[in-house]
Order: sequence, then structure tokens, then C-alpha cells
Amino acid sequence: MRKKIIAANWKMNMSASQAEFLLAALVPKISNTSAECLILPPFTSLYAVKKLLAGTGIALGAQNMHYMDNGPFTGEISPLMLKEAGVEYVLLGHSERRALGESGEMINLKVKSAVNHGIKPIICLGEPQEVRESGTELEFISNQLDEELGGICLCSEMLIAYEPIWATGTGCPADSADAQRCASFIRSYLAMKDSQCAQEIRILYGGSINSSNIASFLSQSDIDGALVGGASLNESFERIARYDEEF
Ligand code: PEP
Repeated sequence: MRKKIIAANWKMNMSASQAEFLLAALVPKISNTSAECLILPPFTSLYAVKKLLAGTGIALGAQNMHYMDNGPFTGEISPLMLKEAGVEYVLLGHSERRALGESGEMINLKVKSAVNHGIKPIICLGEPQEVRESGTELEFISNQLDEELGGICLCSEMLIAYEPIWATGTGCPADSADAQRCASFIRSYLAMKDSQCAQEIRILYGGSINSSNIASFLSQSDIDGALVGGASLNESFERIARYDEEF
């Protein structure tokens, strides 16, 4: 049985003081949900958020990391630094980072490094608009998986986030049945590598999730969670985290 997970990707929002302000109100409301909740703040807010999440059951994650432990990589953050900051999950290969030039090869190195350091990678993928229009999204997803997971043994601690680029940050979510079709394709791909792990790995959907549409995504058999951007930045995130309760 895969436990549902709802991840708040704050992107480049929420300074430490803003995070403290939001979490003071939000943490009591989302600390005993049926789904696992995860906060992904910017690096500079990790320590402040770690303190506020201590003992709440809400997990802490980072939005990126370098694959090396240390060295001449100005402006980068290493897995060792994330471990010390109490990070349990790391987002890798988000489309907004790929747009800045992050390659599949680099994401692959990061996934290997995260696994070696015991940090759970949330491996992002998803097709752009033009690929969707050409009807080749499954081939595109398969190529991304080849790049990201090449030479890597699957483990149940990995997560995959299917985030079609045309749905991310646009206010135009995918259709939940269509997201299920892509999630099911991803699970079949994983099963070709390791059938046991493929049943255990959680697959998330991300892209314009809000409190009105989350339940339809999480009712799909291969969608085990949500990656939430814009709608995670205020107290209404409670409604997303408690998607299975009456309000
Ligand atoms: C994201 O960027 O991970 C995301 C899902 O953003 P949004 O919810 O704003 O579409």
C-alpha cells in the first residue's frame, strides 16, 4: 500500500521569516493528515523550517542539490549539507531547472548521489506543449526516464513526479484520467527494470493542483501524491493537504 504524499514546492518564495509566519498558522492544521506532507523551501529557509517541523510528522525536502559532496562549485549545495540540515527528500530535474540548462546527464548524477546519501529523490519529468500536441508524450517521458535512471538500480525510496510543462504554473491542469494514463505508463516502464520496486515507488502528479481538483488526481490508481507549487504558498494549502476530509 503506497502512502499518499503531498509536497509543497515553494520555489523561490518564502524567506525564513515569511516561512515562519506561514508555518505558525499552517503546521497545526496539516500535522495529522492521512497523507504524508512535505515542505520544500528554498535553501536559506531550510533551518528555520526544520525547527518548525520538528516533531510534527511533516517532512522536509530541498528543491535541488549538487551531486558532489564538496569542492569548487560556487553557489551549489551538496548532499552532505542537506543531510545536516535535516532534509529527507530532494526534488531533482524540475522543468524550471531544466529550462536553466540542467541536462538529463546531470540529473542522473544527482539521483545517484541522493540515493547514495540516503536522501529520497523526487525525480521530475514531463513533456512540453509541442510534444503533447504532436502526440508523442509517452515516447518523450520514456526518453527522460532512460536519461534520469540510466545505470541506476531502482529502490522503493525513489519517487517520480509527472509534471507536464504545459500544466505547470499555468493554471491549466491536466485531465486527471490523462495524468493517470501517463502515470500508468511510468509504472510500466519502472516494472521493466524492477517489478517489485515499481509497485512500491510513489508517482506524483504536479501542475496547477488546487483544492478543487486534487481529489480527482489522487483517486487515480497510479497517482500516489501531488507536487503543488502556487497553491502551497498560503494557508489554503490546508485544504489540499486534507483533500480527503469534508470542509
Ligand atoms: C511545480 O512547479 O512543481 C508546480 C506543480 O507548480 P504549480 O502547482 O504552480 O503548477
